[in-house]
Amino acid sequence: MKRTAKWLFVFVALGGFASAPAARAWGCKGHQTITYLAELHLTPEAKQMVHQLLTDNPIDPALKRWCGSGGLDEMADSSTWADDYRDLDRTVNKNHPTADWHYIDIPFGAAKDQVEQFCPPGGCVTKAITEQLAILKNKNAPGPDRAMALRFILHFVGDLHQPLHAADNDDHGGNCVPLKYFRRNPHLRKGSYTPNLHHIWDTEMVEAGMQGADPAEFADTLEAQFADSFAGWQQDGVRVDAWAWESHGHAIETAYGALAVNIAAEPAGVTVKSCADDNNIGDRMLHKHIVVSAAYEDTAQSVIEERLAQAGIRLAMILNDVAKTTP
Ligand SMILES: [Zn+2]
Repeated sequence: MKRTAKWLFVFVALGGFASAPAARAWGCKGHQTITYLAELHLTPEAKQMVHQLLTDNPIDPALKRWCGSGGLDEMADSSTWADDYRDLDRTVNKNHPTADWHYIDIPFGAAKDQVEQFCPPGGCVTKAITEQLAILKNKNAPGPDRAMALRFILHFVGDLHQPLHAADNDDHGGNCVPLKYFRRNPHLRKGSYTPNLHHIWDTEMVEAGMQGADPAEFADTLEAQFADSFAGWQQDGVRVDAWAWESHGHAIETAYGALAVNIAAEPAGVTVKSCADDNNIGDRMLHKHIVVSAAYEDTAQSVIEERLAQAGIRLAMILNDVAKTTP
């Protein structure tokens, strides 16, 4: 409830979605799991670099931490910093808002081409990773800037692996697709639908799949579950654009495609600032009466677990590479 209340406050304060996609991230536990898995694969040099940057440049104690820091190590704690920092966009970061850096809206039916064409002037997740990586690799950059770049990367590599962070159907990446999630019926409150497709992929289905494990325990589970795939993912190297297309494919095939109700492509080029735009897409989706079945959640969870594991392995690969080239 607390998150909803905060989100609604932001939504109302900004008058819509345009600068407030606050629900657009893996939830706390998804991001924390990714960093715990990454830590299992860091070289000693990378571990040292991360530790040094994060301890020399701690998170501003005045920053309100949505996920809390209790029981987390510094890297897992830092993995959700970018969401808290984004929430300052109306005040502290107003000349340099970072809200758009968490996702890339690749529309339904997009040809698998350059992802930059879907990156608006305000930025997107693939561009943000590339830019922040350049700062992290620059050993002449000030420590606080490199620490900030590291915290962005810890978060954005995770975000990029959430399928609905790389797909959009005039519906804010599924935020305007209300659905019934087990006993919870969809409701519209002040322009926002809960539960919705985006949010259950961020949070509800992740946590259901964790079955009570904490993020470090869940990382150990994924470590064992996907061990046979790690070498292949590592061989493919750092390919940020390809990871966006992978996410997009999972969104089309599973997040939307495995629903019992068919969701057709909405017209391209429509500017959507709220769920009331695009001929009231939220209401139109509500009237499809989408119900999440146990079978859908099973299928989704197998995608979610693989994406968390891939994000962890790839995050480690990025950091190991930085530590090697920027001693
Ligand atoms: Zn995010």
